[in-house]
Amino acid sequence: MVRTPRSSAVTVAAAATGLSKEYGRGDARVVALDRVSVSFREGEFTAIMGPSGSGKSTLMHCVAGLDSFSSGSVRIGDTEVGTLDDRRLTQLRRDRIGFVFQAFNLLPTMTALENITLPMTIAGRRPDPAWLDRVVDMLGLGGRLGHRPSELSGGQQQRVAVARALVARPAIVFADEPTGNLDSRAGAEVLGFLRDSVRELGQTVVMVTHDPVAAGHADRVVFLADGRLVDELVRPTAGQVLDRMKSL
Ligand code: ADP
Repeated sequence: MVRTPRSSAVTVAAAATGLSKEYGRGDARVVALDRVSVSFREGEFTAIMGPSGSGKSTLMHCVAGLDSFSSGSVRIGDTEVGTLDDRRLTQLRRDRIGFVFQAFNLLPTMTALENITLPMTIAGRRPDPAWLDRVVDMLGLGGRLGHRPSELSGGQQQRVAVARALVARPAIVFADEPTGNLDSRAGAEVLGFLRDSVRELGQTVVMVTHDPVAAGHADRVVFLADGRLVDELVRPTAGQVLDRMKSL
């Protein structure tokens, strides 16, 4: 038997097929997603770009199992998300998905380390100490683990949130405007760490952003307009992303 080397196979971490999402009825009906088909490949950093209201957050929420959809399908790995009941959806999000939000969402009374390990603690799992070290090291958080969020800068807090998303080795990390609350320097740092997590740890990352500079850190940028997938760029510069945005 001839074996295909694993490295040559492109594995899809998550995919939407013909995905539609409508809000409201009658005159109030809004088509937020209109038959979107897109794949997110393993070990790739994909940015979802588009003007405000184009459906970026809705797409991310539907693919991440945070929101229901009207028609089409979504899968994470081999799991059809649309077939899961609430309990299984919660399990899927907990065990297979990492989240980074614009607002950091750290618990103020817990230390950085406690925040990083909290989702695993809740799931009754222990982080692999070597992996935890590696993630903390990569994010430059070694000297900050005993600090509470209020004792950390915005950039450091978001790095803690990135560590929290990575530590359980999720199949995919979804980041929703992760630099929205950061100045440009701290933002660039966090984007660099997200990219390092892809390059060095083999993580799969999908990021929603409206910022061409942020999208310029991604391997691939997909563009939404009026709920439709209209284009994609591979390894673009921020300037190329900006040019494409202007024509949407
Ligand atoms: P983006 O993230 O690109 O700004 P969204 O996904 O938030 O876009 O929104 C896409 C469309 O769906 C917009 O027209 C928005 O007004 C609409 N929308 C989003 N959430 C709701 C909701 N809960 N109820 C009604 N309409 C919504």
